[in-house]
Amino acid sequence: MRVLGVEIGGLSIGGIETFIDLPEWKVGFDLGRVREAAVQRPLLCFTHAHVDHLGGVVSHAALRHLRRVEPPTYVIPRENEAAFAALFAAWRELDRSTLEHRVVPLAPGDEFPLPNKLLLRPFRSPHRVATQGYALWSRKRKLRPEFAELPQSELDRRMRTHAAEMTELVETPEFAFSGDTLIELVEREEVVRRARILVLECTFLDERVSVAECRSKGHTHLDEIVERAELFLNEALVLSHFSLRYTRNEVLELLDRKLPPSLKPRVTPFLEGWR
Ligand SMILES: [Zn+2]
Repeated sequence: MRVLGVEIGGLSIGGIETFIDLPEWKVGFDLGRVREAAVQRPLLCFTHAHVDHLGGVVSHAALRHLRRVEPPTYVIPRENEAAFAALFAAWRELDRSTLEHRVVPLAPGDEFPLPNKLLLRPFRSPHRVATQGYALWSRKRKLRPEFAELPQSELDRRMRTHAAEMTELVETPEFAFSGDTLIELVEREEVVRRARILVLECTFLDERVSVAECRSKGHTHLDEIVERAELFLNEALVLSHFSLRYTRNEVLELLDRKLPPSLKPRVTPFLEGWR
């Protein structure tokens, strides 16, 4: 689906599998089970090590080797570095293959420049295991506002010699993906509230799973999002990771009924590959 001109593919089903794909930006997030579209991605960023988010990684490395394409790069939470290496060591021993790949362990506060020129910055997501979401930041030189009124010819003349002083580096969070999280993430992380496009976990939608039970699983409930509707400054909010107990029509109907007018026009459910 396209959101604010950005293609978002993959699929996300709570507890089953998650893969959020940004084909134009050539980066994917999480891989519960290997997917053909994911094999095309040389770069995957993992939010946490629950099997429905990480289970496809070994197959991914193996399939890229089979296709004779460049070995993949995996961005992982720094807490997972040793266990991730042990996972691949065990598979290499079992499989007698190299499963070649590069690992980039990152923690909140770190940044990693992507080949697409966006900057990847992780942030902490509160969940049952070590989890981090990711923001993609663009960085552009823009004219300082005090020069905006200058006539074009004067501007061109001055820019030839003083471009550095007349411009500033502006960083914009273009995209953020929460990973699995409690709703507190939205209160704690400014980038989550401000990202132009936010893909937010929203596993449970109605009383079939109460807010309390949802929280005990480390997840976010639609009612908690509704209660905090005024926090979201995003241009687009993509809700994802719905439990399989909801049909497509139930998701659409519950969102339509519960979301306040201030939020509803900006919300799109992520129902790619949904039944
Ligand atoms: Zn999880």
